[in-house]
Amino acid sequence: MTASAFPTGTILGYPRIGRRRELKKAVEAHWAGTLSASELEDAVRSIRSDIRDRLVALGLGAADSSIPESFSLYDQVLDAAVTVGAVPSRFAGEIDLAADELDAYFTLARGRGEIAPLEMTKWFDSNYHYLVPEIGPDTTFGLTSERLVRDVVEAREAGFVTRPVIVGPLTLLLLSKAEEGAPEGFEPFSRIGDLVPVYAELLAKLRAAGAEWVQIDEPALVSDAVPVSSERVLRALDGVYQRLGASSDRPRIFVSAAYGSIGDALGVLAATPVEAIGVDLVRGVLPSRVDSATRTRLAEKTLVAGVIDGRNVWRGDLAAALEKAADARRLSHSVAVSTSTTLIHVPHDVTLETELDPRLVSWLAFADQKVQQVGIVARGLTGGTAAVERELAAASAALADRDAAPGVHDNSVRGRVSLLSAADRERASWAERRDAQREALDLPVLPTTTIGSFPQTAEIRRARARYLSGADSAETYVTTIKNEIADVIRLQEELGLDVLVHGEPERNDMVQYFAENLEGFEVTKHGWVQSYGSRCTRPSILWGDVSRLGPITVGWSRYAQSLTDKPVKGMLTGPVTILAWSFVRDDQPLAETAAQVALALRDEIADLERAGIRIVQVDEPALRELLPLREEDQPAYLEWSVGAFRLATGGAKPDTQIHTHLCYSEFGVVLDAIKRLDADVTSIESARSRMEIVDDIAASGFDHGIGPGVYDIHSPRVPSVDEVTELLTRAVEGIELDRIWVNPDCGLKTRGYEETAASLRNVLEAARLVRARIAERAEAAV
Ligand code: GLN
Ligand code: ZN
Repeated sequence: MTASAFPTGTILGYPRIGRRRELKKAVEAHWAGTLSASELEDAVRSIRSDIRDRLVALGLGAADSSIPESFSLYDQVLDAAVTVGAVPSRFAGEIDLAADELDAYFTLARGRGEIAPLEMTKWFDSNYHYLVPEIGPDTTFGLTSERLVRDVVEAREAGFVTRPVIVGPLTLLLLSKAEEGAPEGFEPFSRIGDLVPVYAELLAKLRAAGAEWVQIDEPALVSDAVPVSSERVLRALDGVYQRLGASSDRPRIFVSAAYGSIGDALGVLAATPVEAIGVDLVRGVLPSRVDSATRTRLAEKTLVAGVIDGRNVWRGDLAAALEKAADARRLSHSVAVSTSTTLIHVPHDVTLETELDPRLVSWLAFADQKVQQVGIVARGLTGGTAAVERELAAASAALADRDAAPGVHDNSVRGRVSLLSAADRERASWAERRDAQREALDLPVLPTTTIGSFPQTAEIRRARARYLSGADSAETYVTTIKNEIADVIRLQEELGLDVLVHGEPERNDMVQYFAENLEGFEVTKHGWVQSYGSRCTRPSILWGDVSRLGPITVGWSRYAQSLTDKPVKGMLTGPVTILAWSFVRDDQPLAETAAQVALALRDEIADLERAGIRIVQVDEPALRELLPLREEDQPAYLEWSVGAFRLATGGAKPDTQIHTHLCYSEFGVVLDAIKRLDADVTSIESARSRMEIVDDIAASGFDHGIGPGVYDIHSPRVPSVDEVTELLTRAVEGIELDRIWVNPDCGLKTRGYEETAASLRNVLEAARLVRARIAERAEAAV
């Protein structure tokens, strides 16, 4: 072990997608067969080299372990799983990690032929998706991939001493699921003892490669949403880090616990030999009470204070960040400054945004600016200079400037919010609405519909690009979109759907579309953030008070409705989802911002009603995502998020049918929220879980309309009539008939037209069969 001290300032991780999305382009070219494996490795080497050079230019040290070795070709959880050889047996025979690591890696991520890829799910309460490892009682762990070691060597050869980063053993197992075929009740976490030696071996290799520090990420420590009790987690935490710490043959260990409060894990880690502990002091706080034994132990360790927000894009209050870091000194003399999380959640560099208002830019900090901020606060902590004082003052001035800027506080918006009362979140009683809607809509039993979007064809995207670049006129663009809407209406009539949609062809993205049409938002040009693998999103920036200049969706919906006698569903994105998928101002509670967005949507619904739209869907696929990781924080969240949805929909007339759509199958987790949303109809994913949620719904006492998805749109597979009939039959057996809707799992925008039409045809055929069967039975009973 070396005696090198922890760097005074660092970041927990840096975006890997590339400033101009170089990684995305390279891996996609590799998948398409136009870039060989060795060309891909060359491209990656150059991206990694650019990152190191840039981080040094931004103030990190080349040789003091402050540069995190946090690159990933696809996902950091997959990296950890592959490192320890956790390959599910269903891939055996198909891939060979030892022989062709790259091929094996991407096959796990993307599947091959009939073999489905690893499942994907959200990383803590972020919009990043990781791949879920599958662990069984017989999974053999062993150091299988040495990519991380090679990365350290590569950096060293270029003259750097970097700090390798890996997802820790506890988090890896807590985020895994039991492999198919594992005995009932098997817990991946039970394998922790078998996994630790592999990490020990990895640490030895990293040390031999020249690493002086290693960063082991254990964000699972801050979450209550893990499948194991916190007592067991803490016991294992002690065991794992006693064991890893005991090895003489290792770099110094930095355990980081991002995304929330570290809680009791701090005391446990303090009693192990690890040399540094990372705490998130943006979303989280230090424990209020620390016993004297822990105090004594902590004094010998470095506390890495995550005081620069790794998840938002605001320049923030640097003086306050410095104060927080200084406050951490009450626990240890050695306090280092870092970001609260890895920076993969924010775009690369705000200076690329040359088209944004410079005033707005002066309020922002993307990844590169945050690296510089870490340096400023770190210098402030070690004694401060006139230069540091100037930077702190400049950040405060930017905050004051934002506070006074036009649009940040809009009195008419604020006045309206301040006048709201509980009645604005209440509609007529469910019974009254149900009867009014039955009469107004006259729908058949098991009404059929879709979730909103139809395939976004290359042609639509091209037309939009031509319009945005000025090559095509607005008229040309509008004609293309109208033609598409007309085609989609015709297709739905032909198929025989009962409630139609316009297909959302005018939307690039379900949140950005609204952001572009509301006051208070700005969209970036290069602000890409990795969503999963090579997929990126470009979240909008919600910087000011939100209001609607005029109708947003009404024209398209009215046009669609003019083409058919069937009801066309208006389609809006809900307030919680708009916030979740944007970078939201941090100068007021989310609840307040959500209420402003909700009011804009409320007005939109009123305009849709006036335009003759009788059904409006308000999508909230992100309701679950923002659910706080600590149980104690959940009630307050549900209060404001449900409140915002109800404010958006609360003005709808009793005979206007409000639908909502949620994208995940763990119905139980937010069941209470779904009930409280009080939507007339809720559609939810369930095809992949074979309608398991039917029992939950039946047991829940939820008595409004429900559309459990009967067709998994995440796969290009066309479900057979039999398959859908079986799913529908399960639903009909478990839930009252007059509440059930028939719909796919989610929107169809990522699918092709052919498979979509074929799938919907089968869904409708299945609905007809089940209806006929019900009618027969009813007749027989008479
Ligand atoms: N209405 C949206 C669509 O169909 C819903 C998308 C979603 O749930 N993520 O595309
Ligand atoms: Zn969905």
